[in-house]
Amino acid sequence: MSKIKFQTLTGMHDVLPEDQIYFKRIQKSIEGIANYYTFQKIETPIVEMADVFTKSIGEETDIVGKEMYVFKTKGGDNACLRPEGTAPVMRSYLEHGMHNLPQPVKLWYEGPFFRYERPQAGRYRQFHQFGFEAIGEKNPSIDGQIIQMSYDVLKELGFKNIKIQVNSIGDSECRPYFRKILTSYLRSRKSSLCADCQKRLKDNPLRILDCKEEKCQQVKAGAPQTIDHLCESCHSHFKQVLEFLDELELPYELNPYLVRGLDYYTKTVFEIVDMSDFGQSQGTLIGGGRYDGLARMLGGRDTPACGAAGGIERIMGLMKEREMKVGSKQEEPQIFLAQLGQLAKRKSLKLFEEFRSAKIPVAESFTKDSLKSQMRSADKMGAKWVLIFGQKEALEEFITLRDMESGEQKEIKLDKVVEEMKEKLKQLKDGKKDKKLSKS
Ligand code: AMP
Repeated sequence: MSKIKFQTLTGMHDVLPEDQIYFKRIQKSIEGIANYYTFQKIETPIVEMADVFTKSIGEETDIVGKEMYVFKTKGGDNACLRPEGTAPVMRSYLEHGMHNLPQPVKLWYEGPFFRYERPQAGRYRQFHQFGFEAIGEKNPSIDGQIIQMSYDVLKELGFKNIKIQVNSIGDSECRPYFRKILTSYLRSRKSSLCADCQKRLKDNPLRILDCKEEKCQQVKAGAPQTIDHLCESCHSHFKQVLEFLDELELPYELNPYLVRGLDYYTKTVFEIVDMSDFGQSQGTLIGGGRYDGLARMLGGRDTPACGAAGGIERIMGLMKEREMKVGSKQEEPQIFLAQLGQLAKRKSLKLFEEFRSAKIPVAESFTKDSLKSQMRSADKMGAKWVLIFGQKEALEEFITLRDMESGEQKEIKLDKVVEEMKEKLKQLKDGKKDKKLSKS
């Protein structure tokens, strides 16, 4: 077969109709949990000023340094496609003076994000994330709540083997010192690090703790750990977060190598990973942490905050792989509307709209002219009734109702059709209920 001319760009993908059921299920879970915890939805633009990210995530990170889609607008602005959601939400909080509202301001979002990553399984250049952000609160209970909500989303979707990994990476008071001793430790072992980490040593040494390369594992094992070097306030904050997690009985473990490489993180960081049956991590589904320094980085006043973001494709991929339940498919209509002749076709469009207003699902095949082929379609989809709208019916304003099981037919006046079908559906539903009751 010859190659077709146009395909999606590398790393881009279509969310096909068969995937929509997963997207919807995941979105429903996110929205339900966000509502319950009184988080309000926010939508920020897909295109932002590039500085929103360079000034906050950090120029030395992969996301900003290598993966951002940056371009100049016709007006000369340095713009980019958003690579993540936290910085734009904080930009919006500052721009709209949300610090004047009762704090914390709790927001959630969902939408497409863009990173020019090396394409590999589960990594796309356009993907969907959702996130929860609680801005304006320094109390560690908020960290606990964000972790609980993230965990709840996955639990509600049916994930069984998930683990929460937590760590504290300190703040502007204790991190500089930690960075210094870590750098000095790593520098003396530079030749044992992978090529990427040798580069990271200068600008982003903390990221080395996060490196998955085999070569770096031994060096990491002997490296100083952030939690041994926290200042008093970070130490006490972290202790309280863990107490909340204990109280909530969440399955967490300390991971001293978890640093989440973005500059804006402070104190608590966490990731929720899915474990295989053999106890191996299958990748991070949701990650987040506290970002008390972000507002300042974007030119605002100091504002404590905490949040999390999850990857929808990553969650969906695992749900599909494991054949996890997503609830019933869209309910197949029980009624099929068949038509014959031009006048009947025209009138059926109107009748179809009346059914829609009455919220009664009806299937149709307006593009077909042959009654035989329409009856075949109705049979194939398992419709219980077919409404036949032929030439005679259209002229005399009635419709023929055919029961597909018994083959019985009867005539109904056109202006009574919707009402009568509603009653029939109700009887069918009640009958099913009775059957269920008598079984139990
Ligand atoms: P991050 O913003 O990097 O912490 O990512 C949060 C979550 O988004 C990750 O745990 C992934 O599930 C998902 N994610 C991040 N990058 C990608 C990508 N390139 N393609 C698909 N999912 C991604």
